[in-house]
This record gives sequence, structure tokens and C-alpha cells, in this order.
Amino acid sequence: MKIITLANQKGGVGKTTSVLNLGAALAQMGFKTLIVDSDPQGNATSGLGFDKRSFSPSIYNVLVDLLPIDKVIRPTSVPNLFLAGSGKDLAGAEVELVPAMARESRLKGSFAAIKEQFEFVLIDCPPSLGLLTVNALTAATHVLIPIQGEYYALEGLAQFVDTIHLVKKSLNPHLDFLGCFLTLFDSRMSLAQQVQEEVKKFMKEKLFKTIIPRSIRLAEAPGFGKTIFEHDPKSRGAQAYLDLMREILAHMEYLCVLDSVSGVSSERDSVVLGESA
Ligand code: ATP
Ligand code: MG
Repeated sequence: MKIITLANQKGGVGKTTSVLNLGAALAQMGFKTLIVDSDPQGNATSGLGFDKRSFSPSIYNVLVDLLPIDKVIRPTSVPNLFLAGSGKDLAGAEVELVPAMARESRLKGSFAAIKEQFEFVLIDCPPSLGLLTVNALTAATHVLIPIQGEYYALEGLAQFVDTIHLVKKSLNPHLDFLGCFLTLFDSRMSLAQQVQEEVKKFMKEKLFKTIIPRSIRLAEAPGFGKTIFEHDPKSRGAQAYLDLMREILAHMEYLCVLDSVSGVSSERDSVVLGESA
């Protein structure tokens, strides 16, 4: 089971949109995938069509009451895609966990019971570096950073990369920093191109080639409780998230012999699972 945390302490950079659509891309490829909403805002929960005010039990109970995570997991309208949702009390977890035993590794501990059930877990984080994000980084095998193509894109990024290294050193030595990708990108703006250059200079080979464009279809999908693949599967946004997921899989050394024009349903057949040495 590969556990990919999407995090960035900046707000509104496309974390949730990316978790939902990368998760749906994996599910379409035939991978049994779990999305964990570890953000009290509950946007991943509502984005999959659930009522975040009444989602109970939730990740809060997993973190605070040590409820087994399988009690929280629900199927979504997308085949192969499951959700462990956030409820209204998750905001309290940041504070309630402070005096708790093993407070940084509670989410990690909960995953042991489901490791045979899922091939991928994607975790959505709040825009902060608190205990919820630290739990998500401690539980992860991989971390990905979405970066918005705007002027202050790099602000705080160095601090966040330092946090990843700190978690790696003290809590999760096997954490693999996969890299960054650009989101909300408007190629008509010369500013966006400049930002791309800057991020590339800073991140070097840690910047994925696929760019997620700014697109109205991506913005409106969660309002219908749908991923982009249900809302508008032929859109640029859907194609971009599919391409990004393929690039990530290739980077994770999943041998990908994907034919970019192949039909989605047959895609799993052309993904050869297994890590090369
Ligand atoms: P937060 O830090 O508050 O959790 P976030 O990093 O999860 O935010 P999102 O919620 O994914 O960011 O995106 C912020 C807003 O931008 C949302 O309204 C979302 O619908 C919109 N959005 C995200 N990605 C795109 C895109 N590629 N094109 C257009 N709109 C987008
Ligand atoms: Mg979010």
C-alpha cells in the first residue's frame, strides 16, 4: 500500500482538487484507492458528495478515540474509490491530540489494519503545519507538493521542505519526497511562466513536467460532489490529472507501459505493477 500525502502550508493551492482527481485517476486505472480527508474544512469529503457536517464516525474518531479506520471508510460513487472523511469535530483534534500518547503517529498506526485492502491512499491536509499535517507526513510513504503558479508560489516552500526533512529524520525515515507540480496555471499570463522558471530553479528535477491548468470545469466539479472524470471526462483538466498520475506512477517506479490513447477501462491491463529493484 503506497500512501501519498499532498501537503503545502499555503491555502488554496489545489491540494484538495488534486487529491480528489489523482485519486479518481488511480481508481479509473483499476487501483483500489482510499482518500483520507485530514482537513477540518472537509472539502475532500464534500467534494465526493458527502455531507461534511454529518460525516460520523470520521477521521477525528480515528485520531482521538483510536477507532479502527475501517469503521470510517465509505465507498464513493466512483468504482474503486473510497473515502475516510472529515467531520465537524476534526478541528478540535489539533488541540485534543497535544497531550496524547504517540500523537504524531496515530494515523500511521491506523493504516496497519487496511494495508491489504488498498493499493493507494491519498491524504488531503489542511493549510498549516500542525499535528494533522504531521500525522499525514508520518503516515506517508510519499509526499507531493502542489504549487500554485502565482507570484508568492515559493514563499514558505523552503520552510515546508525543511519540515519534510525534519519528519523524515525524527518520525518517518522512509518518507520519500516525490516532488512538486504546478496547479491553477494560466499559460496566457507571463507571470505564470516566470513562476514556472523560478520553481524549476529551486526544485530542479523535483518538479513534475505535467502542469494542471486553471480550468472552470475543475473548479465547478466539487460543487456537484463529483470528480472531473464524472463531471467532464473529456476536459483539459481530466487529461492533465490523468497525465500527472501517470508521471507520478512512472516516477514511483511502477513500470508504466501506458499508451496515452488507450481506453480508460483497459488501462489497468497496461500498467505493470511492481517496483523495479
Ligand atoms: P485549502 O488550503 O483551503 O485546503 P486547497 O489547497 O485544498 O485549499 P483547493 O480547494 O483544491 O485548494 O483549490 C482552491 C480553489 O481553487 C477551489 O475553489 C478550487 O475549486 C479551485 N481550483 C483548484 N484547482 C483549480 C484549477 N486547476 N482550475 C480552476 N480552479 C481550481
Ligand atoms: Mg483543501
